[in-house]
Amino acid sequence: MKIILQICDTKIKFTMKKHNFNAGPSILPREVIEETAKAVLDFQNDGLSILEISHRAKNFQPVVDEAVSLFKELLDIPEGYSVIFLGGGASLEFCMIPYNFLEKKAAYLNTGVWAKKAMKEAKLFGDVVEVASSADANYTFIPKNYTIPTDADYFHITTNNTIYGTEILKDIDSPVPLFADMSSDIFSRPIDVSKYGVIYGGAQKNLAPAGVTFVIIKNELLGKVTRPIPTMLDYRTHIDGGSMFNTPPVLPIYTALLNLRYLKANGGVAAMEKKNIEKANLLYDAIDSSKIFVGTAKEEDRSRMNICFVMKEEYKEKEADFLKFAQENGMVGVKGHRSVGGFRASCYNALPIESVQALIDCMKKFEQSI
Ligand SMILES: *Cc1c(COP(=O)(O)O)cnc(C)c1O
Repeated sequence: MKIILQICDTKIKFTMKKHNFNAGPSILPREVIEETAKAVLDFQNDGLSILEISHRAKNFQPVVDEAVSLFKELLDIPEGYSVIFLGGGASLEFCMIPYNFLEKKAAYLNTGVWAKKAMKEAKLFGDVVEVASSADANYTFIPKNYTIPTDADYFHITTNNTIYGTEILKDIDSPVPLFADMSSDIFSRPIDVSKYGVIYGGAQKNLAPAGVTFVIIKNELLGKVTRPIPTMLDYRTHIDGGSMFNTPPVLPIYTALLNLRYLKANGGVAAMEKKNIEKANLLYDAIDSSKIFVGTAKEEDRSRMNICFVMKEEYKEKEADFLKFAQENGMVGVKGHRSVGGFRASCYNALPIESVQALIDCMKKFEQSI
């Protein structure tokens, strides 16, 4: 045990640092991974691994408490909201949200695969109004100028469309409670939480390893539906239990805490936004000035997190070659989602600008070679 800890302490040398553009699970700060590794061997020098302690251990409760308090601090969450950690992924929230909040009718903005999946679940509980959709244009833009029905129980949006590379960067004004799936852009920029009723997401895009889901809920919206809700699917169970009603995902919550501490130490979400804008501008500029690549999302709706591009028609047959070339040059995860094709570079908080530059160099080198 001692020897292993020493090895861990002397900093594991990685033979070759890859440029990690994975869409999710995805890149985390190296320090956060190293701290997690240490806790896996010996949690807080207590002689036990974090993998083998009780979630009710005296030294784990402070982990949850601090994670919640950092959520509130970093996102400037007002009074009257709860933050909980659950299992089941963002996909389980697609059904928990209507279970807890849809009495008669809910409104949804259809901006992609995830929005559609959320709508499908909601239909099991009541009327679903699709206020607008960009499906006909393969979700390459965010619909605007739609009307939100004022008698809806809530209006649901997906702020960042991980697959299609579009993003809603402005906090929407909604006449009914605004619910947002922020799986892939939480903590990437400041948001005005007071404009939202619920914000949720799987943690594995920009926060932690897979296994934990975060939910931010405005408390006063709960308890209004008349249907009975199974205990585990009732948000109130997890709020009352402080995310400890049953065994929570202990390790991912701990890594989330480490990442939240890292975020705070590095200037919080405002600093992240600055860095994310810089990275996105750099890559979009390279795409726009390239003679072989072209972006797929409408310019005004471009995501800072997931940058999608393809090869121009006349170079289409070179896509597989570029993927191979990129891979040989240390790029990981640049293949586009199967429903869009081409390429997707996910540029989450932890991705250094050097990786974006390396990808651009790789694109330029390939362009020169053909
Ligand atoms: C990845 C993703 C999901 C699905 O998350 P799971 O945790 O795998 O259920 C939902 N919504 C968005 C926007 C995503 O990016």
